[in-house]
Amino acid sequence: MALDPSDPASLELSAAEMRAMCEAATARVLAHLANVERQPASGDVDVEALCRAMREPAPEQGRALEPLLDAFFDEWMPRSLTTNGPGYLAYVPGGGVFPAAIADFVADTTNRFTGARFAAPALVQLEANALDWLRAWMQLPAGARGIFTTGGSAATFNAVVCARERHLGAEIRRGVVYTSSQAHHSVFKSARLAGIAADRVRAIDVDESFRMRLDALESAIERDRRDGLSPFLVVSTAGTTNTGAVDPLDEIADLSAREGLWHHVDGAYGAFFHACEELRPLLRGLPRADSITLDPHKGLFLPYGTGALLVRDGAALRRAHDATAAYMPEPSPDDLYDPSRDGPDLSRGFPGFRVWLTIQTFGAARLRAAIAEKRALAIHAANALAASPHVVIDAPPQLSLFAFHVTWPGATQREEDAATRALIDRVAERGRVLLSGCTTGDRFLARVCVLSFRTRRAHVDACIEDVTAEAAHLAQL
Ligand SMILES: *Cc1c(COP(=O)(O)O)cnc(C)c1O
Repeated sequence: MALDPSDPASLELSAAEMRAMCEAATARVLAHLANVERQPASGDVDVEALCRAMREPAPEQGRALEPLLDAFFDEWMPRSLTTNGPGYLAYVPGGGVFPAAIADFVADTTNRFTGARFAAPALVQLEANALDWLRAWMQLPAGARGIFTTGGSAATFNAVVCARERHLGAEIRRGVVYTSSQAHHSVFKSARLAGIAADRVRAIDVDESFRMRLDALESAIERDRRDGLSPFLVVSTAGTTNTGAVDPLDEIADLSAREGLWHHVDGAYGAFFHACEELRPLLRGLPRADSITLDPHKGLFLPYGTGALLVRDGAALRRAHDATAAYMPEPSPDDLYDPSRDGPDLSRGFPGFRVWLTIQTFGAARLRAAIAEKRALAIHAANALAASPHVVIDAPPQLSLFAFHVTWPGATQREEDAATRALIDRVAERGRVLLSGCTTGDRFLARVCVLSFRTRRAHVDACIEDVTAEAAHLAQL
C-alpha cells in the first residue's frame, strides 16, 4: 500500500489502491477455489512449532498486502482441515457459498449500522425478511420472532435464557433442564452460561436409535418434581452430532405441553432439512417447538459465522432481551424487526445480509435441491457400505449422517474399536475424504456427514471406495 507519507494519520486509500487490493485477493481466492477439489482432505495440523514461531509483535509500519495474502494461502491455510472441500465429511460440515462472501464485502465496506432499526431501516428489513423465510420453512406461526447469532451455540444459549426468563425468575436454582445423553455439548455450556448449574441438567438416556427415551424423560421430570425442583426446559435434538439421530420431537412436544415446559429443538445440524417439504416427516413435530436453533453456516451452506434462533412466542424473545437507554431513539412499532431488542448484541456485523443475498441469488428451490441431495448421497453411501462384510452400520442415516464400525468374524469389540479408529486415519491418508469418529455408549464409531455443498456423487463414491478398501485391509490384519 502506498499510503501518503505526508499525512501519517490518514487511513484512507485511493480508488486505485482499493482496486488493486481487491484484485490481489480475488486472484488468490479464485485460484484457491479452482483447486479445492485437489486439495488433500486434511492438511498437516500438527504444527505447534510453526504456531510458536509465528508469534510476533504488531508491526510498527504497514506491510504490503500481497506477501501477507501469500502467507495465508500458501503457508497457514493449507495447515488446516479442508473444511470447504468436497471430501469434508467429518463432524458437521459447513459451507462457504460465494454470494455470502460478496454480501460480507459489501456490508463491511458500506459499514451501515444494523444493530438498531432506526439507523438503517430498509437494510434491517432485509434481515427481517431472511428471518421470516427461515420461520416459514420451519412452519412456525407468524408471531414468531428470531435473531441471527454467531452460531448454533449462541442461539441455544439465547433460547435457554428465554425459557429461564419465562419460567424461573428468582427461582433459578430450582430450575431443571432436560436433554439427551447425545446432545451437543453446547447445550450443557448454554445452561451453565445462563446460570443453570450442572447439577440441574439431566442427560436423559437414549434408545437403540440414539433418540431421547420418553419414558426416561418422563420419570426424570417426575423425580425432580417430587424433590421440590422446577423442571422448565427440554432441549431435544433434530440431528445429533454423533449419529444424526432425531429425537421424537412430536412426542416431546406433547409431553412438554402436558408438563408446562419450554421445548427447544437444537436443529443446528438438522433443521434445514425441514425446508424440503418431502423431508418434513423426518422432523415431525418440529413446528411445535417453542424455539429452534438453526445454523445457516451448516445446513444453508453459508460460510462460518451465522446461526439463528427462532422463538414461537416472539414476545418471550423480546422480554428476555429488550432494554433501553436515554441515548437510544424511540422503539420501533412492534411489527417491525429491531435487532437489538430481540437479541443480546447492539453493534455487530450484518448477518442477515449474507443470508438474504444467498437466498436471493440461488433461490429457495436450488437450496432445497442441494439439501435434499445431501441426504440422498448419505443414503447411497450407507447402502453401499452396508454391503461390505467388514462394515456394520450402527446408525443408518435419519438425515444425512450415519455411523458405522469395522468388523470381521471373531473380532472383539476392543479390536473393532481400534480398527475403526485406524480406518478413519487410513482413509484420511488417502487424501480424498475426511471422516470423524465418536464414542457412543461404549463403542467407537466412524461417522460420515454429507452436508458440504461441494460434496457430490463422485466424492461420495470416493468415500465408499476408500472405506471399503481400508475396512477390508484392517479386517485381514
Ligand atoms: C454444530 C452444532 C452445534 C453448535 O453450533 P455452532 O454453530 O458450532 O456453535 C450445536 N448442536 C448441534 C447438533 C450441532 O451440530
